[in-house]
Amino acid sequence: MVEDWFRATDIDEVVTLIEEPHVHPFLCANSWLIRGARRNLLFDCGLGVASMRAFVVEHLGLAEPVAVLSHGHLDHMGSAHEFSQVWAHPAEQPWRPGQGSLVGTELMRILGMDDAAVASMPEIMVTAAPAADWLVKDYELRPVTPTRSLSDGERIDLGDLTLDVLHLPGHTPGSIALMVQETRMLLTGDVLYEGTLLDQLHGSNIPQYLESMSRLGELEPSLVLPGHGPVFDAERMAALAGRYLSSKALR
Ligand SMILES: [Zn+2]
Repeated sequence: MVEDWFRATDIDEVVTLIEEPHVHPFLCANSWLIRGARRNLLFDCGLGVASMRAFVVEHLGLAEPVAVLSHGHLDHMGSAHEFSQVWAHPAEQPWRPGQGSLVGTELMRILGMDDAAVASMPEIMVTAAPAADWLVKDYELRPVTPTRSLSDGERIDLGDLTLDVLHLPGHTPGSIALMVQETRMLLTGDVLYEGTLLDQLHGSNIPQYLESMSRLGELEPSLVLPGHGPVFDAERMAALAGRYLSSKALR
Protein backbone atom coordinates (compact mmCIF):
# COMPACT_ATOMS: atom_id res chain seq x y z
CA MET A 1 0.00 0.00 0.00
CA VAL A 2 1.24 3.52 -0.78
CA GLU A 3 0.19 6.88 0.63
CA ASP A 4 1.04 8.86 -2.48
CA TRP A 5 -0.77 7.35 -5.43
CA PHE A 6 -0.24 10.39 -7.65
CA ARG A 7 2.89 12.38 -8.49
CA ALA A 8 2.66 16.05 -9.53
CA THR A 9 5.38 17.86 -11.50
CA ASP A 10 5.17 21.53 -12.47
CA ILE A 11 5.96 22.19 -16.14
CA ASP A 12 5.68 25.98 -15.70
CA GLU A 13 3.71 28.43 -13.51
CA VAL A 14 0.32 27.22 -14.73
CA VAL A 15 0.76 23.66 -16.08
CA THR A 16 1.23 20.63 -13.82
CA LEU A 17 1.73 17.02 -14.89
CA ILE A 18 -0.04 14.41 -12.74
CA GLU A 19 1.04 10.77 -13.07
CA GLU A 20 0.29 7.44 -11.44
CA PRO A 21 3.80 6.01 -10.88
CA HIS A 22 2.60 2.68 -9.46
CA VAL A 23 0.89 1.72 -12.71
CA HIS A 24 2.50 -0.35 -15.51
CA PRO A 25 3.95 2.00 -18.20
CA PHE A 26 1.37 0.82 -20.74
CA LEU A 27 -1.42 2.18 -18.53
CA CYS A 28 0.38 5.08 -16.86
CA ALA A 29 -1.13 8.13 -18.56
CA ASN A 30 -0.31 11.81 -18.19
CA SER A 31 -3.01 14.08 -16.80
CA TRP A 32 -2.44 17.79 -17.38
CA LEU A 33 -3.68 20.38 -14.92
CA ILE A 34 -3.88 23.94 -16.25
CA ARG A 35 -4.59 26.72 -13.78
CA GLY A 36 -6.54 29.59 -15.34
CA ALA A 37 -7.59 32.92 -13.86
CA ARG A 38 -11.27 32.06 -14.19
CA ARG A 39 -11.24 28.27 -14.00
CA ASN A 40 -8.90 25.31 -13.82
CA LEU A 41 -8.86 22.57 -16.43
CA LEU A 42 -7.71 18.97 -16.11
CA PHE A 43 -7.02 17.20 -19.40
CA ASP A 44 -7.57 13.53 -18.54
CA CYS A 45 -7.90 12.18 -15.04
CA GLY A 46 -6.19 8.83 -14.48
CA LEU A 47 -7.47 5.32 -13.90
CA GLY A 48 -9.85 6.04 -11.07
CA VAL A 49 -7.93 3.73 -8.71
CA ALA A 50 -7.49 6.66 -6.32
CA SER A 51 -9.44 9.93 -6.32
CA MET A 52 -7.96 12.41 -8.76
CA ARG A 53 -10.43 15.05 -7.59
CA ALA A 54 -9.30 14.70 -3.98
CA PHE A 55 -5.67 14.94 -5.07
CA VAL A 56 -6.25 18.19 -6.97
CA VAL A 57 -8.66 19.82 -4.54
CA GLU A 58 -7.36 18.61 -1.16
CA HIS A 59 -3.71 17.78 -1.75
CA LEU A 60 -2.85 20.55 -4.24
CA GLY A 61 -5.41 22.94 -2.72
CA LEU A 62 -6.94 24.07 -6.01
CA ALA A 63 -10.50 24.85 -7.08
CA GLU A 64 -12.16 21.84 -8.73
CA PRO A 65 -11.14 21.81 -12.38
CA VAL A 66 -13.29 21.05 -15.37
CA ALA A 67 -12.35 17.52 -16.48
CA VAL A 68 -11.77 17.42 -20.24
CA LEU A 69 -11.32 13.95 -21.73
CA SER A 70 -8.84 13.40 -24.55
CA HIS A 71 -10.77 10.17 -25.14
CA GLY A 72 -12.61 7.44 -23.28
CA HIS A 73 -9.95 4.85 -22.44
CA LEU A 74 -9.72 3.78 -18.81
CA ASP A 75 -6.32 5.36 -18.12
CA HIS A 76 -7.65 8.77 -19.19
CA MET A 77 -11.21 8.83 -17.83
CA GLY A 78 -11.21 6.61 -14.73
CA SER A 79 -11.82 9.47 -12.29
CA ALA A 80 -14.12 11.48 -14.57
CA HIS A 81 -17.20 10.51 -12.54
CA GLU A 82 -15.78 12.46 -9.56
CA PHE A 83 -16.03 15.82 -11.32
CA SER A 84 -19.11 18.02 -11.62
CA GLN A 85 -18.10 19.20 -15.10
CA VAL A 86 -16.86 16.72 -17.69
CA TRP A 87 -16.32 17.78 -21.29
CA ALA A 88 -15.65 15.44 -24.21
CA HIS A 89 -16.12 15.08 -27.95
CA PRO A 90 -19.58 13.72 -28.85
CA ALA A 91 -18.10 10.83 -30.88
CA GLU A 92 -16.57 9.43 -27.69
CA GLN A 93 -18.89 7.43 -25.44
CA PRO A 94 -17.72 7.74 -21.84
CA TRP A 95 -21.27 7.02 -20.66
CA ARG A 96 -20.74 3.55 -22.14
CA PRO A 97 -17.06 2.95 -21.51
CA GLY A 98 -17.11 -0.83 -21.63
CA GLN A 99 -15.11 -2.81 -19.18
CA GLY A 100 -11.94 -1.77 -17.51
CA SER A 101 -9.47 -4.16 -15.98
CA LEU A 102 -6.10 -4.06 -14.27
CA VAL A 103 -5.47 -7.70 -15.16
CA GLY A 104 -3.09 -7.54 -18.13
CA THR A 105 -4.46 -10.34 -20.28
CA GLU A 106 -8.05 -9.28 -19.71
CA LEU A 107 -7.26 -5.64 -20.45
CA MET A 108 -5.58 -6.52 -23.78
CA ARG A 109 -8.69 -8.45 -24.79
CA ILE A 110 -11.01 -5.60 -23.77
CA LEU A 111 -9.00 -3.07 -25.80
CA GLY A 112 -8.66 -5.34 -28.83
CA MET A 113 -4.88 -5.85 -28.70
CA ASP A 114 -3.26 -8.76 -30.52
CA ASP A 115 -1.85 -11.98 -29.05
CA ALA A 116 1.69 -10.61 -28.88
CA ALA A 117 0.48 -7.76 -26.68
CA VAL A 118 -1.44 -10.18 -24.48
CA ALA A 119 1.72 -12.24 -24.01
CA SER A 120 3.84 -9.18 -23.17
CA MET A 121 1.65 -7.86 -20.36
CA PRO A 122 2.04 -8.78 -16.69
CA GLU A 123 -0.90 -10.37 -14.95
CA ILE A 124 -1.32 -7.37 -12.65
CA MET A 125 -0.94 -3.85 -14.08
CA VAL A 126 -0.23 -2.03 -10.79
CA THR A 127 2.72 -2.35 -8.41
CA ALA A 128 1.01 -0.98 -5.30
CA ALA A 129 -2.41 -0.48 -3.76
CA PRO A 130 -3.92 2.91 -2.86
CA ALA A 131 -5.57 1.55 0.31
CA ALA A 132 -5.15 -1.45 2.59
CA ASP A 133 -8.48 -2.99 1.61
CA TRP A 134 -8.15 -2.32 -2.13
CA LEU A 135 -8.24 -5.32 -4.49
CA VAL A 136 -7.25 -5.45 -8.15
CA LYS A 137 -10.25 -7.58 -9.01
CA ASP A 138 -12.63 -4.91 -7.69
CA TYR A 139 -11.46 -2.30 -10.19
CA GLU A 140 -14.21 -1.05 -12.47
CA LEU A 141 -14.41 1.74 -14.99
CA ARG A 142 -17.30 3.95 -14.00
CA PRO A 143 -19.36 5.61 -16.74
CA VAL A 144 -19.85 9.35 -16.92
CA THR A 145 -22.22 11.56 -18.88
CA PRO A 146 -20.37 14.59 -20.25
CA THR A 147 -21.86 17.94 -19.29
CA ARG A 148 -20.59 19.67 -22.45
CA SER A 149 -19.80 18.43 -25.97
CA LEU A 150 -16.56 19.70 -27.46
CA SER A 151 -16.35 19.89 -31.24
CA ASP A 152 -13.46 20.72 -33.53
CA GLY A 153 -12.69 24.43 -33.55
CA GLU A 154 -14.37 25.20 -30.23
CA ARG A 155 -12.63 27.43 -27.75
CA ILE A 156 -12.28 26.88 -24.03
CA ASP A 157 -11.93 30.06 -22.01
CA LEU A 158 -9.97 29.83 -18.74
CA GLY A 159 -9.95 33.60 -18.24
CA ASP A 160 -6.35 34.42 -19.07
CA LEU A 161 -5.83 31.39 -21.32
CA THR A 162 -7.77 30.15 -24.33
CA LEU A 163 -7.58 26.59 -25.62
CA ASP A 164 -8.55 25.48 -29.13
CA VAL A 165 -10.16 22.05 -29.52
CA LEU A 166 -8.88 19.83 -32.33
CA HIS A 167 -10.86 16.70 -33.21
CA LEU A 168 -8.22 14.14 -34.21
CA PRO A 169 -9.88 10.72 -34.60
CA GLY A 170 -8.00 7.51 -35.33
CA HIS A 171 -6.93 6.14 -31.96
CA THR A 172 -10.59 6.44 -30.98
CA PRO A 173 -13.53 8.14 -32.78
CA GLY A 174 -13.68 11.13 -30.43
CA SER A 175 -10.02 11.74 -29.65
CA ILE A 176 -9.22 15.41 -29.16
CA ALA A 177 -6.14 17.55 -28.66
CA LEU A 178 -5.99 21.02 -27.11
CA MET A 179 -3.79 23.92 -28.20
CA VAL A 180 -3.16 26.73 -25.70
CA GLN A 181 -3.32 29.88 -27.83
CA GLU A 182 -1.11 32.07 -25.65
CA THR A 183 1.75 29.62 -25.09
CA ARG A 184 1.34 27.31 -28.13
CA MET A 185 1.52 24.28 -25.85
CA LEU A 186 -0.20 21.31 -27.50
CA LEU A 187 -1.88 18.57 -25.49
CA THR A 188 -2.15 15.50 -27.71
CA GLY A 189 -3.73 12.75 -25.56
CA ASP A 190 -3.12 9.40 -27.22
CA VAL A 191 -2.98 10.83 -30.76
CA LEU A 192 0.79 11.29 -30.48
CA TYR A 193 3.43 10.34 -27.92
CA GLU A 194 6.84 8.69 -27.89
CA GLY A 195 6.42 4.95 -28.44
CA THR A 196 4.14 2.66 -30.39
CA LEU A 197 0.89 4.34 -31.38
CA LEU A 198 -2.22 2.19 -31.04
CA ASP A 199 -4.35 2.25 -34.18
CA GLN A 200 -5.86 -1.24 -34.20
CA LEU A 201 -7.92 -1.15 -31.03
CA HIS A 202 -11.69 -1.45 -30.93
CA GLY A 203 -12.86 1.90 -32.34
CA SER A 204 -9.55 2.74 -34.04
CA ASN A 205 -9.50 3.88 -37.66
CA ILE A 206 -6.21 4.06 -39.58
CA PRO A 207 -7.37 6.31 -42.49
CA GLN A 208 -8.69 8.81 -39.93
CA TYR A 209 -5.48 8.49 -37.95
CA LEU A 210 -3.45 9.37 -41.07
CA GLU A 211 -5.55 12.50 -41.60
CA SER A 212 -5.21 13.49 -37.97
CA MET A 213 -1.46 13.04 -38.15
CA SER A 214 -1.27 15.26 -41.23
CA ARG A 215 -3.19 17.95 -39.35
CA LEU A 216 -0.79 17.74 -36.44
CA GLY A 217 2.08 18.22 -38.87
CA GLU A 218 0.70 21.65 -39.78
CA LEU A 219 0.87 22.92 -36.21
CA GLU A 220 3.86 24.64 -34.69
CA PRO A 221 3.66 24.05 -30.96
CA SER A 222 6.20 25.42 -28.51
CA LEU A 223 5.96 22.17 -26.54
CA VAL A 224 3.96 18.96 -26.87
CA LEU A 225 2.33 17.55 -23.72
CA PRO A 226 1.39 13.97 -24.68
CA GLY A 227 -0.96 11.42 -23.10
CA HIS A 228 1.95 9.12 -22.25
CA GLY A 229 5.69 9.55 -21.81
CA PRO A 230 7.91 12.63 -21.89
CA VAL A 231 7.17 16.07 -23.32
CA PHE A 232 8.85 16.96 -26.63
CA ASP A 233 9.30 19.84 -29.05
CA ALA A 234 7.86 20.63 -32.49
CA GLU A 235 10.79 19.08 -34.29
CA ARG A 236 10.34 15.79 -32.46
CA MET A 237 6.59 15.95 -33.11
CA ALA A 238 7.20 16.29 -36.84
CA ALA A 239 9.57 13.31 -36.74
CA LEU A 240 7.10 11.14 -34.83
CA ALA A 241 4.21 12.12 -37.10
CA GLY A 242 6.36 11.54 -40.18
CA ARG A 243 7.40 8.12 -38.89
CA TYR A 244 3.77 7.09 -38.47
CA LEU A 245 2.76 8.40 -41.90
CA SER A 246 5.62 6.65 -43.68
CA SER A 247 5.08 3.38 -41.78
CA LYS A 248 1.54 3.25 -43.16
CA ALA A 249 2.55 4.38 -46.66
CA LEU A 250 4.83 1.36 -46.96
CA ARG A 251 2.02 -1.13 -46.44
ZN1 LIG B 1 -6.08 5.48 -25.44
